[in-house]
Amino acid sequence: AHAVALENVTKTYPGGVTALDDVSLAVRPGTFTAVMGPSGSGKSTLMHCAAGLDAPTEGTVHIDGTAISRLSETHRTELRRDRVGFVFQSYNLVPSLSIADNITLPLRLAGKRPDHDWLRLLVERVGLEGRLTHRPAELSGGQQQRAAIARALVSRPAVVFADEPTGALDLRTAREVLGLLRDLVAGLGQTVVMVTHDPAAASRSDRALVMADGRVVDTLESPTAAELA
Ligand code: ADP
Ligand code: ADP
Repeated sequence: AHAVALENVTKTYPGGVTALDDVSLAVRPGTFTAVMGPSGSGKSTLMHCAAGLDAPTEGTVHIDGTAISRLSETHRTELRRDRVGFVFQSYNLVPSLSIADNITLPLRLAGKRPDHDWLRLLVERVGLEGRLTHRPAELSGGQQQRAAIARALVSRPAVVFADEPTGALDLRTAREVLGLLRDLVAGLGQTVVMVTHDPAAASRSDRALVMADGRVVDTLESPTAAELA
C-alpha cells in the first residue's frame, strides 16, 4: 500500500475558500517528499487532510491502506495516533518532561510498550544519548528538533509529517536536521512528507510537489535547489 494516497481531494472551508481543488497524489513508503508553494497555495490544508487532522469536503484519503476520510472522528484520531508522526517548526516538546520521556510520550499515550532496540537505535541516530535526562530548555534548538524527530518516529508510524521543520533553525543546524531526516528515510525506511518554503531544504527530498491555488502544479523527482528556486 502507499503510505499516503489522496484521490480527487477537494477542501472548501466554511465561507467558501477552496483551499484544495481536486488533488490526487500517492506517497511511496520509504520516501522523502517535499511540499512547496507560495503562502496560501494550500500546503497546510494538504498536510492536515493527508494526516487525518481535517476531513476533506470531497474525495478520499488513505493512510497505510486505510480510508481515513471515511472513518468517524474517534477512529480517525485513533489511526492518526497509531500511524502518523508529526514534527513542527516550534518542536512542541513538553517543558516539564525529560528528553527521554518526551520521546516516549506517544507510546505511553497509546498504552504501548517501548521496543527497547528501536528506541536505542533512534536515540543513537538523533545523537541524544547523553541528553536523555535533560529538560528541553537545556538543549539547543537543533537538539530539541532532533528529540522531536525521535518522538515522531517512536511508534514507527506509516508516515511522518513535518511542517517547516527547519524554519526556526540557523542555516547550519537546518542542514544537519535535514540530513538527519533524509538519513532516517534512507537508513530506517521511514516515510516523511515535509512542508517547506526553502528550496535548499526541498532539494534534499526524493520528490517535490509544487502547489499553487489549491492544486499540485508540478512534481519534480530528485529535485535540485536550482530547479526549485
Ligand atoms: P499555505 O499553507 O500554502 O499557506 P493554506 O492551506 O494555509 O495555505 O491556505 C489555503 C487557502 O485556504 C488560503 O486562501 C487560506 O486563506 C484558506 N484557509 C486556510 N485555513 C482556513 C480556515 N480554517 N478557514 C478558512 N479559510 C482557510
Ligand atoms: P550531504 O553531504 O549530506 O548532502 P551537506 O551537509 O554537505 O549534505 O550539505 C549539502 C546539502 O545541503 C545540499 O543538498 C544542499 O541542498 C543542502 N543545503 C544547502 N543550503 C541549505 C539550507 N539553507 N538549508 C537546508 N539545506 C541546505
